[in-house]
Amino acid sequence: MLDSRIADISNNLFTSYYKSVDADEIAPKMTERREFGFGDYEKKIAFRHIAFKNASELKRYFVEKHPPFASYSSAMYERPDARPMEAKVWLGSELIFDLDATDMHLKCQELHGRSWVCKNCLNSVKDETIRLVEDFLVPDFGFSKGEISINFSGNRGYHVHVDNDKVMQLDSRQRRQITEYIAGIGINPDRFFSFEDIGRGRKTLIGPKPTDGGWAGKFAKGVISTVTSRDGSRSELTLTDLGVDKTTAKKLYSNNAEIALGISLGTWDKVSIPRKKEFWASVINKMAIEQSDSIDKNVTNDTHHLLRIPNTIHGDTGLVGMKVSMSGIQDFDPMKDAIAFKRGTIKLKIEQCPQLVMNGELFGPFENTEEELPTYVALYIMLKRLGIPI
Ligand SMILES: [Zn+2]
Repeated sequence: MLDSRIADISNNLFTSYYKSVDADEIAPKMTERREFGFGDYEKKIAFRHIAFKNASELKRYFVEKHPPFASYSSAMYERPDARPMEAKVWLGSELIFDLDATDMHLKCQELHGRSWVCKNCLNSVKDETIRLVEDFLVPDFGFSKGEISINFSGNRGYHVHVDNDKVMQLDSRQRRQITEYIAGIGINPDRFFSFEDIGRGRKTLIGPKPTDGGWAGKFAKGVISTVTSRDGSRSELTLTDLGVDKTTAKKLYSNNAEIALGISLGTWDKVSIPRKKEFWASVINKMAIEQSDSIDKNVTNDTHHLLRIPNTIHGDTGLVGMKVSMSGIQDFDPMKDAIAFKRGTIKLKIEQCPQLVMNGELFGPFENTEEELPTYVALYIMLKRLGIPI
């Protein structure tokens, strides 16, 4: 249970936020057709099947109830508050993607655990979000950037919504085909490489070029960036991550310029690798899986899913699940730009809390201490259950 003093403080802050915000900022498009669900500090969706007639009715609810978790349906219904689900009469659903840093198997998480989120977590999931839009939704599916909206989840991820007439009617099975394509499921490298020609005595392995469309071009670009980057930080993959043994990896890294040049021309065997076909097939398979780990496929495939309402406050952080523009996402820093409560300070007793950077300033690490902190920092620590007010 969340300490009641923390609940009191955050309820007051949340109410002040919802009083100040415009109804249209928090009301989704076609509010009257959506199902809403709300949670308390213990459960993200404690009750659902709620409907509002319009934006101002929704805002009134927020001011009165200051819910720490607020979700709405990506679907539109004839009667959004009816139940069971079938009685709602489904009219269509946006295509949504839920990306979360905790599902990315990042190295930093081994150090700070899954419940904490660091700068590397936030940057990695942001990169994946940009990649989903720039590498898949726009070039491969042909959605325009105007149909795609992005919001920070309020904690450790991003939500991407595609609002396009063609996607509204897709059923779960068709949505699954989209997530499977993005995950590279069923990709057969034979389609991209001239393996048969090699068998017939041809010397050079011809394969995909970075300029090719679809997965072919993505593999070519992915392998070039992997062999030319040895850093392994952020979301960059290393060759060993891709299942390449150390000796081969060393050989590839030391010839990386030549390899990258070769691949850019479609020639894939600048370095001799035994069992080439198996090698590249395993690289491709591993890469496809890594690239899509951040996306929760169940969310996309579910045509009745409830997802955080953009521009509402997240009850685990006190940050705003802010809408972010495509042009602004590269520079978006959630620990600065999504801060809601800049005024005042709160005194906390903290047993243990990792270091965090908020609003460009470094705080902690804290251990058995009492600290007077800016409201947004104190709220973040309290809602993460790492400190109590004194
Ligand atoms: Zn991290």
